[in-house]
Amino acid sequence: MNNDLKIFDELESSVRSYVRGFPTVFKKAKGYKIWDMDGKEYIDFFAGAGALNYGHNDDNMKKKLIEYIMEDGIAHSLDKATDAKGDFLEKFNNVILKPRNMDYKVMFPGPTGTNTVESALKLARKVTGRTNVISFTNGFHGMTIGSLSVTGNQAKREGAGIPLQHVVTMPYDSFVSENLDTMEYLERFLEDNGSGVEIPAAMILETVQGEGGVNAASFEWLQRIEDLCKRWGILLIIDDVQAGIGRTGTFFSFEKAGIKPDIVCLSKSIGGYGLPLALTLIKPEIDIWNPGEHNGTFRGNNMAFVTATESLTYWETDEFEKSIAEKSEKVTQFLTSLIEKYPELQGEVKGRGLMQGISTPVEGLAGEICAMSFKKGLIMETAGPEDQVFKLFPPLTIDNEGLEKGFAIIEECVKSLVA
Ligand code: PMP
Repeated sequence: MNNDLKIFDELESSVRSYVRGFPTVFKKAKGYKIWDMDGKEYIDFFAGAGALNYGHNDDNMKKKLIEYIMEDGIAHSLDKATDAKGDFLEKFNNVILKPRNMDYKVMFPGPTGTNTVESALKLARKVTGRTNVISFTNGFHGMTIGSLSVTGNQAKREGAGIPLQHVVTMPYDSFVSENLDTMEYLERFLEDNGSGVEIPAAMILETVQGEGGVNAASFEWLQRIEDLCKRWGILLIIDDVQAGIGRTGTFFSFEKAGIKPDIVCLSKSIGGYGLPLALTLIKPEIDIWNPGEHNGTFRGNNMAFVTATESLTYWETDEFEKSIAEKSEKVTQFLTSLIEKYPELQGEVKGRGLMQGISTPVEGLAGEICAMSFKKGLIMETAGPEDQVFKLFPPLTIDNEGLEKGFAIIEECVKSLVA
């Protein structure tokens, strides 16, 4: 029994971070609720940083998982064909890809988000024979050297001496200011043959930047990006690791923009139950890998396939999308009323779907709101380069009661900190 942080403080490396924001020992969780060792209940507005879109310990996924284990279903299989993997591929095709008219090959690049990004960058380089990649300011793509090298966050890179290698970072979304349009700038840059500019292999971006401050790109901008990529033969990689799997209202975050990226990166909630799984979706004509060219031991987490398959049941009808839309609207209304009621916040509502937050220029305030919320029983974190955003990220399955309870805690904290 570890009901204080002693063993963690004594033994765990200084790299640990969430324990600082949420200093307790957690034990149990169900739906949108988490309990610590003292039995204190917390509302979860964090959802495993997007890995728990369906909440904690979903009953149906749990049942399937227990059945699978009791039947001695194979747990680990590298990339061998298994019953569980076949079921997942079949359902993913029938429930997700086909109804959206999407033709992609499914690659299992390794267990986590950074694995899918690495595979996407490598494939883009192989397909085009070029090396450069365009990424965007405040974009976040992972913590290994390749994915970090396209991550627009100097603080995360500099300790390890990782430059933005072969990367051009561009301001995110079209109009940085009245006179600077990212797309026009980019177009001129690409036309500048005289300077020996190499046409990039790929462009990588999130449609809503999760870690970077819940910045949502407009659909129009995304369409312009796709158009530019097509014209210049640049592969478009959408990193949907955080914004995907329903977070912004649709299964893929780019559906409403009507674009068809060349490569899509998925992880976090694709496993359904919080089990590690990642997918790289690849347009068939660029699936030119040689067998084994990108491999890894943990590409066949069959328990994750079992829960992932069950999680897709949520997408068999329109009901889930409708419920996400209703809850998203509630979040928008709450945040809008909060910034109106408390002008001291100088707040701006950001994001899309159940990926929203408030950005405040008041130094340290977003962090203080999260810290005080934690004491009052709400788990929520900050985002953005200056941690200037508090980010509401509940499981998509949360009910109205859970949302209202969370809203009440946030408002209480804002009131006592600014009013
Ligand atoms: N891409 C995005 C958009 C992410 O938000 C994250 C994780 N926060 C990653 C990639 C990396 O995923 P992982 O931590 O599983 O490697």
